[in-house]
Amino acid sequence: MFIHHRTIGYILKRENINEADQVFLIYTKDFGKIKVSAKAVRRLNSKLRSSIQVFYLSEIEFIQGKALKTLTDAILIQRLDGIRKDLFKLRLAYNFSRVFNALVKNQEADEKLWQLLNAFFKNLESEKLTSIKAQLIYYFFFWNLLSVLGYAPELKLCVFCRKKVMLNRFFWIVGEGGLVCKNCLNKVKTRIGEIDIRTLKVLRLMMNNELDQDWQVLKRLKIDLSIIQNLKIISKRYFNYIYEKR
Ligand SMILES: [Zn+2]
Repeated sequence: MFIHHRTIGYILKRENINEADQVFLIYTKDFGKIKVSAKAVRRLNSKLRSSIQVFYLSEIEFIQGKALKTLTDAILIQRLDGIRKDLFKLRLAYNFSRVFNALVKNQEADEKLWQLLNAFFKNLESEKLTSIKAQLIYYFFFWNLLSVLGYAPELKLCVFCRKKVMLNRFFWIVGEGGLVCKNCLNKVKTRIGEIDIRTLKVLRLMMNNELDQDWQVLKRLKIDLSIIQNLKIISKRYFNYIYEKR
């Protein structure tokens, strides 16, 4: 007999397999990232259909077959409608899910990742946000995800000589994973990018000590569009670097 496993999780992705079946990618509290196939869920009268959709928090039950997990029950806990009904937030949520899925490999419970995902959705969902605040939430959780996974960049010391980088000018390099001081610039073999001091300060605040505290500090700051644009460039480059390095 199959053992029925029960847990809660966020539905991050859905793939149609054939006319009636789907596979869901779910980040669960007790099993980490899992893929679960749902039989006949696309049929109109499927009882599971209304309980399992992308960006739902659901309680699920599944059985582990030889290769695949099969969904046997789903109960809706919360529809993240604040995200699902706002195109801008929805795009950010999809982007975050894509990064999360790309970097989180293990099917293994991880309380820190679970809390991070929880907090990301709660913050993006709950309030009425300006587009800058919404993007700031995205980047805040993006960098904290990297940090939880052990990919945090070096933001204080030079990656070569390990001396404190002087505050007048910053050089950011992607290929070595952080800041480089003026004296070590000639050692850099990869592409160098400059990071302006305001963006660097925001990055440092983002990964300061504790998720909730850092966000409380950050959300009170006046962040303008130029910082968001800098974060966008740096985040993209750094993600590509991490993704290839793994
Ligand atoms: Zn140096």
